[in-house]
Amino acid sequence: MSKITIAIDGYSSTGKSTIARQLAKALGYIYVDSGAMYRAVTLYALKAELIRDNKLDKEKLIESLPSIFLQLSFNPKKGYAEVYLNNKNVEADIRNLEVSKYVSRVAEIPEVRRKLVAIQQEMGKNKGVVMDGRDIGTVVFPAADLKLFLNAAPDKRATRRYKELLERGDKVSFEEVLQNVEFRDRVDSTRDVSPLKQAEDAVVIDNTDMGLEEQFERVLNLANHVISQKKKDA
Ligand code: C5P
Repeated sequence: MSKITIAIDGYSSTGKSTIARQLAKALGYIYVDSGAMYRAVTLYALKAELIRDNKLDKEKLIESLPSIFLQLSFNPKKGYAEVYLNNKNVEADIRNLEVSKYVSRVAEIPEVRRKLVAIQQEMGKNKGVVMDGRDIGTVVFPAADLKLFLNAAPDKRATRRYKELLERGDKVSFEEVLQNVEFRDRVDSTRDVSPLKQAEDAVVIDNTDMGLEEQFERVLNLANHVISQKKKDA
């Protein structure tokens, strides 16, 4: 069995999902966007009015966890798995700035993380998976065969996210997007449970000045190297 597990972590809007999708497609692996799960739980909290006047009712959200049912279902037309929250496809509702504003607060809650990490580990138990997030190489799959840690200059990342949101038709300002990217990085890296940090054995990629093709070629070479090494050892 030469399939491997690939963990991709890094700061917000560093293009983790782009490279993860490219890799999964090239290798015939499953791609799992773990951030989408935290976003779906945040959407639930917003819809259930557990977030009001900028305040999140953590206790109520923890109580509600058993009634939050998440699924990832592969959409062959799009080439990736879409997130379903209580049987509803919420892919189009989880990427906006409203959800981005609160998601790091939701992701700080240990009970939320416990639930989502268990789902993620189950999805990756047969290997052949590329998963991106903040704690994949450190907590979800500490024994992953290949770990990448992505970074880029904050204004470059905010520019990418800003363009994405504009293309979706969201009315946002660059300043708001930059602030959100910096806020999430700060909360994600300083929380008590599973903070965002580089795994010691991760390959660091700073893509501030790197094109997508160059990055993909580099990462695919790394993955193929690990796979062939594994075949030799088998
Ligand atoms: O990857 P994305 O930017 O969509 O993730 C949204 C948020 O979800 C992050 O800012 C972080 O707060 C949380 N997250 C996390 N652990 C992960 C993936 C995402 O805490 N593995």
